[in-house]
Amino acid sequence: MRYASCDTLLTAYLLLTQDQDRAVLENGALSISQGRIQAIGPREDFAGVRAQHTLHLGNALILPGLINAHTHIPMTIFRGLADDLPLMTWLNRHIFPVERSLTEEMVTLGCLLGCAEMLRCGTTAFADMYLLEEAIMKTVEGCGMRVLAGEGIFSFPSPAYADTAAALDLVRAQAARWRGHARVRVAVAPHAVYTTTPELLIACRDLAGELELPLHIHLAETREETAGCLSAAGRRPVAYCHSLGLLGRRTTIAHGVDLEDEDLDILAENGVRVVHNPRSNMKLGSGVAPVPDLLNRGVTVGLGTDGAASNNSLNLFAEMSACALLHKAVHRDSTLLPAQTVLDMATLGSAQALHWEDLGVLAPGRPADLIALDLSSPGLQPLYSPFSHLVYAASGLEVRLAVVEGRILYQDGHFFSLDYPALLKETDKIRSWVLRARRRKQPPRVSGREDADF
Ligand SMILES: [Zn+2]
Repeated sequence: MRYASCDTLLTAYLLLTQDQDRAVLENGALSISQGRIQAIGPREDFAGVRAQHTLHLGNALILPGLINAHTHIPMTIFRGLADDLPLMTWLNRHIFPVERSLTEEMVTLGCLLGCAEMLRCGTTAFADMYLLEEAIMKTVEGCGMRVLAGEGIFSFPSPAYADTAAALDLVRAQAARWRGHARVRVAVAPHAVYTTTPELLIACRDLAGELELPLHIHLAETREETAGCLSAAGRRPVAYCHSLGLLGRRTTIAHGVDLEDEDLDILAENGVRVVHNPRSNMKLGSGVAPVPDLLNRGVTVGLGTDGAASNNSLNLFAEMSACALLHKAVHRDSTLLPAQTVLDMATLGSAQALHWEDLGVLAPGRPADLIALDLSSPGLQPLYSPFSHLVYAASGLEVRLAVVEGRILYQDGHFFSLDYPALLKETDKIRSWVLRARRRKQPPRVSGREDADF
């Protein structure tokens, strides 16, 4: 071992790297220095290394932290408020009336709840798109996670801005404020084709190009979206965005459900990254994204939960399981999306979808974002393949450690970067506020807004 000392030394029975060889080390160790992985190898190689903090995890599996590549994190405050309704009824009666009067306090509390849930279930980084995103960025900075944060941009006012010019100015200011931050990055996030105008999408494209930011948009989520786009613009959503120059290597689209061959070709030829949200797509009755076809064309696909109101979980273990099972069932083909491929989606694929390419893998020099599962949990023994257990058997509650940038944020029931007992005391306040806001008389709806998914 060429290093004499490190900040933190972790040892565990298994260390799953997700490196190029998908190496899994038995009796492995990993050292962390200044928030990055310093070295990985057999435990005996680390004899004599002085560590400020040593954690022998025993019968545990260390792997890269999972990455939630598409969510609306404050929507935890709406979880279970209304389910099993037609999409438009759900939105217009239960979600939009409350969102119109959202406050920074509610966004912050919802974000904290979401961060706690994700850390508890092994997610260390996520891509978000919501309203009042600055409050989310500040909250995530405080609780130690990583986020690619996009203020949802609409062609109508939001609680964060009065008009589209103000929306673009807001994103510009956010980008300036957070530029160079180690854990908080900014995206340009036009909400969807049906909540924007061509002019606004072009302005978003130009802003993302000028500031060199990722562009994150909902696209091709439902057949209704396609029908609306065909009637309004004469093209399917993917072709429409392509005609506006929106689709390139900087672009990540969420959903990609209603795709035809020509759409798949456009996405592949332009290096667009896709985020698959199987549980939300199932719950909202949107359909099944052609993920095997996307992967066959070489498109990078990450995995996301979407918001907690349409999932109703932010647990990527549940998402991995749903993803692996759904496509097998729909295509009547048990060889589709094997466990390794699905774990790749939740780590390496999602890292690409966040345009944060050094995440999703445990290797020297990479950010020290990792989790550990208790392998002695009922349901994970005996162990033949860690990939199989992670995708088909683990619930996420086996997670006993979550580390971001070398800092332990969660361990064995305790959160170290957020006050969870204090947060629990706020949930009555959240519930009363949401129920009051839902009853409030609303001004007339802004045209187009009724289609939005948040
Ligand atoms: Zn979404």
